[in-house]
Amino acid sequence: PPSRLPGVGTTIFTVMSKLASDHGAINLGQGFPDFPPAPSLAEAVNQAMAAGHHQYAPMAGVPQLRQRLAEKIQRLYGRLYDAETEITITAGATQAILTAVLALVPAGDDAIILEPAYDSYAPALAMAGARAVRVSLDPVTFRPDFERIAQAIGPRTRAILINSPHNPSGVVWTREEMQALADLAQRHGLFVISDEVYEHMVYDGRPHISASSLTALAERSIVISSFGKTYHVTGWKIGHVVAPAALMAEFRKVHQFNVFCVNTPMQHALAQVLQDDAPWRDLADFYASKRSRFAQGLAASGLEPIACEGTYFQCVRYGHLSDQSDLDFARWLTAEVGVAAVPLSPFYAQAPGLQVVRFCFAKQDATLDSALERLATLP
Ligand code: PMP
Ligand code: GLN
Repeated sequence: PPSRLPGVGTTIFTVMSKLASDHGAINLGQGFPDFPPAPSLAEAVNQAMAAGHHQYAPMAGVPQLRQRLAEKIQRLYGRLYDAETEITITAGATQAILTAVLALVPAGDDAIILEPAYDSYAPALAMAGARAVRVSLDPVTFRPDFERIAQAIGPRTRAILINSPHNPSGVVWTREEMQALADLAQRHGLFVISDEVYEHMVYDGRPHISASSLTALAERSIVISSFGKTYHVTGWKIGHVVAPAALMAEFRKVHQFNVFCVNTPMQHALAQVLQDDAPWRDLADFYASKRSRFAQGLAASGLEPIACEGTYFQCVRYGHLSDQSDLDFARWLTAEVGVAAVPLSPFYAQAPGLQVVRFCFAKQDATLDSALERLATLP
């Protein structure tokens, strides 16, 4: 048949989870927690169901959920988005990214993505009939180089997709970097699609600088986050998007014919738990301790951890232990050592041969310890 996405295979997260399951490996590949969410969350869903919330939600999302998000975002990032016209609830960040791209990047135009890039960005642009212009982050530090980005901007460049905290590297953009992005976007008239799904997983006292916190950036940004990450419910597939009203109007034109609205009882449950700040406020400490446990434990394996400033991913260099490509090394780790990881090359159009793989540490301590025991046997 004709292909909308020639050259695209099955996403690496599905491939590695299947391989982990085939080999009975501990799955530190695909990013998801192996522990349950807070019981209060399931209780809130039961209550929403008992209250009869079973039919379509409003297209933009349950009003109370949007209102509580508006309040939270204002407190955290200092910008008040109008719950009625500037906030939309989506079927996870993945749908939000595709919808934002379809809304903002016309077919035949370009958008910049920074490699290593989350694997849905380029296919989202391809589905929109747009072209992904790829700019590499620094291969050692994974930080952005704004001169290189500026050089890649052409007359048809409409948008740039950014992701901080960054999957897979764990880099968190500084205020200076976000300001440089704002200057660049303003100078070249670019829209910004800011993927901030790991906004609450930032460590060592660093702040998360949201695109919504800088006026010059917020004016031209669609900012995306996901409840799946923050509440340990990746399977719920609920996220949210904020943008100035004019951008949001375009976003919703696409959203209404893409999913129309998302799961109603879960939205009511999230509205209820959003009354409490503790779940997201305590998340960084919760994950920082897992990050340290895992990174320290890696010493016995010889794998070299790359500093992780945010996200729940730990990247490691293995080039001094093995000549294998990252794909082969990740497969070998899964099949022979019993620990699944995700290689970095699927985050690139042309893999630069980095010899880095990514582990997810959103796991019970016992799971991390078992994985570390296995990794300590690396030859
Ligand atoms: N963006 C990034 C950077 C991610 O890591 C993920 C998923 N882990 C997503 C988007 C998708 O989030 P969701 O599961 O809410 O669709
Ligand atoms: N974002 C998750 C990761 O990076 C996976 C999400 C998915 O499987 N689509 O591992």
